[in-house]
Amino acid sequence: MQIGYSFGDEIGEAAAEQMRELPFYTNWSYAHPRALELAGELASLAPGDLNRVFFVSGGSEAVETAWKLARQYHAARGERRWKAISRRLAYHGTTMGALSINGVTPLRTPFEPLVPDVLHVRNTNRYHRPPEESEEQFTAFLLDELEQTILHAGPETVAMVIMEPVQNSGGAFTPPAGYFQGVRALCDEHGILLCADEVITGFGRIGDWFASSRYDIRPDLITCAKGLSSAYGAIGAVVASDRLVEPFLQDKRAFMHGITFGGHPVMAAIALKNIEIFKRERILENVRANEDAFRDTLAQLADLPIVGDLRGAGYFWALELVKDKETRETFTDEESEDLLRGFLSAQLFERGLICRADDRGDPVVQLSPPLIAGQQEFDEIVGTLGAVLAEAGERIG
Ligand code: PLP
Repeated sequence: MQIGYSFGDEIGEAAAEQMRELPFYTNWSYAHPRALELAGELASLAPGDLNRVFFVSGGSEAVETAWKLARQYHAARGERRWKAISRRLAYHGTTMGALSINGVTPLRTPFEPLVPDVLHVRNTNRYHRPPEESEEQFTAFLLDELEQTILHAGPETVAMVIMEPVQNSGGAFTPPAGYFQGVRALCDEHGILLCADEVITGFGRIGDWFASSRYDIRPDLITCAKGLSSAYGAIGAVVASDRLVEPFLQDKRAFMHGITFGGHPVMAAIALKNIEIFKRERILENVRANEDAFRDTLAQLADLPIVGDLRGAGYFWALELVKDKETRETFTDEESEDLLRGFLSAQLFERGLICRADDRGDPVVQLSPPLIAGQQEFDEIVGTLGAVLAEAGERIG
């Protein structure tokens, strides 16, 4: 809910107007005005040369589409590449392709066998690395593992590397300096497409339209959803460059993929209104002006014995909870279950703080407030969270 809950009337009016003008038209072989306008907007907001847009209805479809686009792109150029590389613990969606890309084991196992040949590399969790390791050494260590994985897979078989600029699952893992430049270089060296999954980080979460700009990722593909409509409508997109689309424009080729509701006129009208509100209300400027204050306010919680790490960027932060702050020892599965689901989630919700207590990795509380928030909301967040975390600490003893 990037822009918050207060724009229902205005966005509802845009949707109603679109309902009167054209409630539906297919985006297959044809196009309609709102989808064209929205594609134009996205092309202007996306970093670098990304200017081609394929609309879908949400994040999973966007990831699914990116993998299929990458596969057919290589095939159209006479190469057979199908594998994908993603990161451990990362969440990328729920459909079979996107699920296979996920690095969250318990979400995957009930549905095996999955789409084959996804390889997972380490994420950028630095909290549990040796304390003497420098940031530079950490980056080199991660890139070395990625390179070994590519070589082991057979570089000529790898279609795509897909990563979030800041990984959500596991708790707001930001990239160490030089990381994405190294990932880009490895992809270039081996002819692999780089997809930035910006389903969460897109549309201001990190203070830019796309976090790829902030971290200079220079991806070949971006997937986005959620913030594209501030969740007022079900719409997502894959954004690519002319270079990627070019093989599809030759002969009678086409991207053999399409979704009936992709770029639905009403959803496109909602997304356009959302972007208009973003600009008018100076939403990105608000995040940039306040992100340091948000971090500093959250840092007040760092002294609590149960809080081990505070990490994130923009309006996207996580507090990692630990049993022992000195040794960074984490909780057992049972303790974590009791702490997060048995206590924290319910208490925070009851006291009016909507945030996520998650243990797909080590237990974290994740905060991603609406991008209109300011100091008053930060204080409220920290007040509630501080009280509940202090009680949680006492419970654990
Ligand atoms: N990719 C990322 C990074 C996500 O966080 C999510 C959902 O949380 C998805 C993809 C899947 O999006 P959706 O739930 O809209 O299918």
